[in-house]
Amino acid sequence: MPSEFALIDRYFRRPTHQTVLGVGDDGAIVRPTAGMELVISTDMLVAGTHFLPETNPEDLGWKTLAVNVSDMAAMGATPRWALLAAALPAATESWIEKFARGFFACADAFGIDIVGGDTTRGPRNFCVTIFGEVPAGMALLRSGAKRGDDIWVSGQPGQAALALAHLQGRHVLGHPMLTDCLAALQRPQPRVPLGLALRGLATAAIDVSDGLLADLGHILDASKVGATLRIPELPAAGLERDCWLAGGDDYELVFTVPASRHGEIGAIAATLSLALTCIGTIDSNERGTLTVLDAEGQPVDTARRGYDHFA
Ligand code: ADP
Ligand code: MG
Repeated sequence: MPSEFALIDRYFRRPTHQTVLGVGDDGAIVRPTAGMELVISTDMLVAGTHFLPETNPEDLGWKTLAVNVSDMAAMGATPRWALLAAALPAATESWIEKFARGFFACADAFGIDIVGGDTTRGPRNFCVTIFGEVPAGMALLRSGAKRGDDIWVSGQPGQAALALAHLQGRHVLGHPMLTDCLAALQRPQPRVPLGLALRGLATAAIDVSDGLLADLGHILDASKVGATLRIPELPAAGLERDCWLAGGDDYELVFTVPASRHGEIGAIAATLSLALTCIGTIDSNERGTLTVLDAEGQPVDTARRGYDHFA
């Protein structure tokens, strides 16, 4: 195995496009754009907890960065710089090469410079810190939802969880669902263009990493409001319904928009070629209360709300 420094040089050092000083010194130097605020976030992926040990390394590289980009999308920020802290077992270079290929494919797709990191030996574990920019005061927060707002979700929630159930033999998916669900699990598409379009329009936003109900619950708590969901596309029952409501790992956006601006969302959906579905309303000031109704208007049992690492 090559030295730590040879590994960094060979696989993690790429030309930068919007950076004063990138990989190679004790610190990176970046120049934030005048008038913009920095949005900063970090997310860790641990083998066995966040990904199956046999995961394709190129997909894993993509996802390691994509889940962080998703946090920028949820804030309405443009992602710009990221650092990668990697613990690797005595990994073969071919594994690292594939991981880096997926990781930089995501960086290129979203115009992000990788400006540094840390590389150490250990159980496989990746931690990205990401920096994005948003015009001052324009970030999308969890705390701004108001009574009377509609609740929207992008894409098809639950697909990643369905793919995982398929891979673990708990569910069988046929084509073309299988292809779509595997893509959602392995190559999540952070909704950056949607986040940018929602600036000045959405009152609150969050990305779905732990499950729709759990993550919507964070908006309700932070905004001190309650909601009722009436979900037009909710699967009738069973695992598919559970995945829709509580499946993690989708990286879709859930957001709230004043009802008076309902029409603007359709235009965004068309421009972005992205499904945007109105799934309910913020209808009370009772913090955190959430009712889910099925197609007949009957309450759905929502005991299983999402993933909690320590529950
Ligand atoms: P230091 O000893 O000062 O912490 P390192 O030897 O850890 O520096 O890293 C050398 C350079 O390589 C630094 O610029 C660091 O940011 C960068 N770097 C280390 N690991 C990675 C990585 N996995 N991806 C990107 N840059 C990295
Ligand atoms: Mg270091």
